Amino acid sequence: MKLDATDLRYITGDEFRVLTAVEMGSKNHEVVPTVLIVQISGLRNGGVNKILGSLAKRNLVARVQNSRYDGYRLTYGGYDYLAMRALSKRDTLYSVGNQIGVGKESDIYVVADAEGNEMVLKLHRLGRVSFRAIKEKRDYMGKRKSASWMYMSRLAAQKEWAFMKVLHEHGFPVPRPIDQARHCILMGFIDAYPLRQVSDVPSPGKLYSTLMDLIVRFAQAGLIHGDFNEFNILILRDSGEPVVIDFPQMVSTSHVNAEMYFNRDVQCIRKYFRKRFRYESKIYPRFSTTKKSGEGDEGYRLDVVVEASGFKKRDQEALEQVRRCRVNM
Ligand code: ADP
Ligand code: MG
Repeated sequence: MKLDATDLRYITGDEFRVLTAVEMGSKNHEVVPTVLIVQISGLRNGGVNKILGSLAKRNLVARVQNSRYDGYRLTYGGYDYLAMRALSKRDTLYSVGNQIGVGKESDIYVVADAEGNEMVLKLHRLGRVSFRAIKEKRDYMGKRKSASWMYMSRLAAQKEWAFMKVLHEHGFPVPRPIDQARHCILMGFIDAYPLRQVSDVPSPGKLYSTLMDLIVRFAQAGLIHGDFNEFNILILRDSGEPVVIDFPQMVSTSHVNAEMYFNRDVQCIRKYFRKRFRYESKIYPRFSTTKKSGEGDEGYRLDVVVEASGFKKRDQEALEQVRRCRVNM
C-alpha cells in the first residue's frame, strides 16, 4: 500500500474524530457497530454516516455487514494513518518516501523530518497471519475479546522500541530510536547493505569475530537477539562495521529456552560464513561460558532495564504465543 503523508494534513477535524471513534470501538469489537461509532464520536448521526463513507473510499475503514449488525473496522491503512498523524503532530515525521522493505512482519519506508533528514519508518504487521490459532489460547488476553492485529502489532512495536532504546543508550551498534506511535517506530537511517547482499568482505575472519563478540556482549548484558541472521545484520557502507536491527523477538538470558536461542544465533552466523565466505572457525561462544564470565560483566542487566521501562513479561508472553502459533501453522 502506498503511504501518503501529505494527505495527513488534509483530514477534517470531524473525519479525524470518526476515525478515532472506530479505533476506540475496535478495542472491544472486531466490527464496530455504526451506532457505537456515532456515540463515541459525539457527532450527528447523518454526518457520521457520510464521513464513514468517505473514509471507506480512502481505505481508512472498511464496511462490514454481518448477520447481527452493520459496522466498520479500522483497516491497516487507517491505523497507519493514525500513527503517522501522531508522529507528524509531534514534528518527528514530515514526509514519506519510498518503501525499502517488505518483511514477514513489517513494512519499511524511508521518511524525512521537516529539514529533510532521512529516517526509517517501520510499520509492524503482525496481522498478516491468521489469528485463529491464537484465539483458541486466550489465556494471555485477559479481558480482551479478540487477539486483534492492531493490538499485537502495537505490542511488537513497543517491544522493539524498548529494546532499541536501551541498546542504543548502552552503546550497542543499533539504529538511533527517534519516536514510536501505535504499531510504528521511527529510527535513524542506516546507510548500509544487509549482510545477505554482501558477497565480499575484506576479512571474513574479522567480521566473524566482531559478530560473535556482539552475541557475547548481548548475553553479558542479559539479552539474546533471537534472529541474528544475514538479513538483520547491516554492513555500513563506509566502515564495513555491522549494525544490528529487528528486535521484536529478543529474549532475556534467564528465559527457559535461553541456551537454545543463544546457540541458534551462533550457529546461524557459523553456517552463513561457511556457505557464503567459505570461512570456518573452531572458535565460537558457548552459552555456559558467557554466563560464567557474565552476569554483570557489563555491570548491568538490560533485560531487567527493559522490563522496568514498562515492557512487561505478560506482553512478552503474548508476543511469544503469536510466534509459536505462526510456526505451528
Ligand atoms: P522485519 O521484521 O520485517 O524483518 P527489519 O527490521 O528486519 O524488518 O527490516 C527489514 C529490512 O529493512 C532490513 O533488512 C533492511 O534492509 C531495511 N531496514 C530496516 N531498518 C533499517 C534502517 N534503520 N536503516 C536502513 N535500512 C533498514
Ligand atoms: Mg528482519
